[in-house]
Amino acid sequence: MSDIIQLLPDAIANQIAAGEVVQRPSSALKEMMENSVDAGATEVQVMIKEAGKMLIQVIDNGKGMSLTDARMSFERHATSKIRKSEDLFAIKTFGFRGEALASIAAVAQVEMKTKQSEEELGTLLFVEGSEVKKQEPVVCPDGTSIAVKNLFYNVPARRNFLKSNPVEMKHIVEEFQRVALSYPEIKFSLMQNDMELFRLNPGKLSQRIVGIFGKNYQGKLVACQEDTPHVKIKGYVGKPENAKKSRGEQYFFVNNRYIKSNYLHHAVSNAYEGLIASDQHPFYVLFLEIDPSHIDINVHPTKTEIKFDDERTIYSVVRSGVKQALGAHNVVPTLDFSM
Ligand code: ADP
Ligand code: MG
Repeated sequence: MSDIIQLLPDAIANQIAAGEVVQRPSSALKEMMENSVDAGATEVQVMIKEAGKMLIQVIDNGKGMSLTDARMSFERHATSKIRKSEDLFAIKTFGFRGEALASIAAVAQVEMKTKQSEEELGTLLFVEGSEVKKQEPVVCPDGTSIAVKNLFYNVPARRNFLKSNPVEMKHIVEEFQRVALSYPEIKFSLMQNDMELFRLNPGKLSQRIVGIFGKNYQGKLVACQEDTPHVKIKGYVGKPENAKKSRGEQYFFVNNRYIKSNYLHHAVSNAYEGLIASDQHPFYVLFLEIDPSHIDINVHPTKTEIKFDDERTIYSVVRSGVKQALGAHNVVPTLDFSM
């Protein structure tokens, strides 16, 4: 009898994990932008070439990394954001799994330049297929620049599976917009093949919405605010008369993290009932603040799903919050004197 089970080498384990974390260029971009926000950046620049197939670069002015941390950041399950299992119930950062950079570096060529403000010199690292190929001191600005080149260069099946440039670019713009929407106080820019698609200056949420979706949203937004012990809501919904036939822009953020929820979407649609035609869709950008111990964001590696421990309460707070906001802006006089 002989034993046949072996632990997989890191490079292979990372490549397998990458299959879940990095589905396409936009998933890598999301992880990198979130890391920049977590690092306290006030400015984040994104550079894209060939819809991210050739280059995805994120440059931030955040806190940077020491030489040792820069190397550690590419290890799997290596994170500065949680230390013990209790921390999982009080997550305040985007990241916590410590697998994004390891996954990205398993399936791409990654060049990182990073410097902490108190250091004279920064660190340059070049990692390819999980292997550190180069490490040297470098003169660079405070913060971190990560350039991801030739994504899936070593996974031909994935590379071939990528969609056309316009489709991949659409995903990239969507991820960019989600992060940019949730941090209006941070300056963001997006360049594609040397053309500037977005330059968003720091400001208020309403200004960020106009910066992202265009001037026709100016004056068309209704502020929404609701404060309950369980959940706080703030954000904007579109005036009923501006509802669109196409599904349009609808965003939920829970503790500043973009989430998808058909259930909460229904709560908003329900609040618009009678105000818009059934084939029309309202605009909304709503931020929910919930005690992290009442939610579970650890449902899926890409973290767009979430579990609430009291879904129904949240549903009704969202619904009544939106209803109230719309009511306060309703110019049609009501003939109901019963209250
Ligand atoms: P996670 O974000 O889940 O911790 P990542 O693989 O995304 O895992 O990053 C690993 C670690 O690398 C982070 O915990 C952080 O300490 C460091 N890091 C990554 N990106 C940046 C950045 N832009 N600025 C500063 N530190 C970073
Ligand atoms: Mg991360």
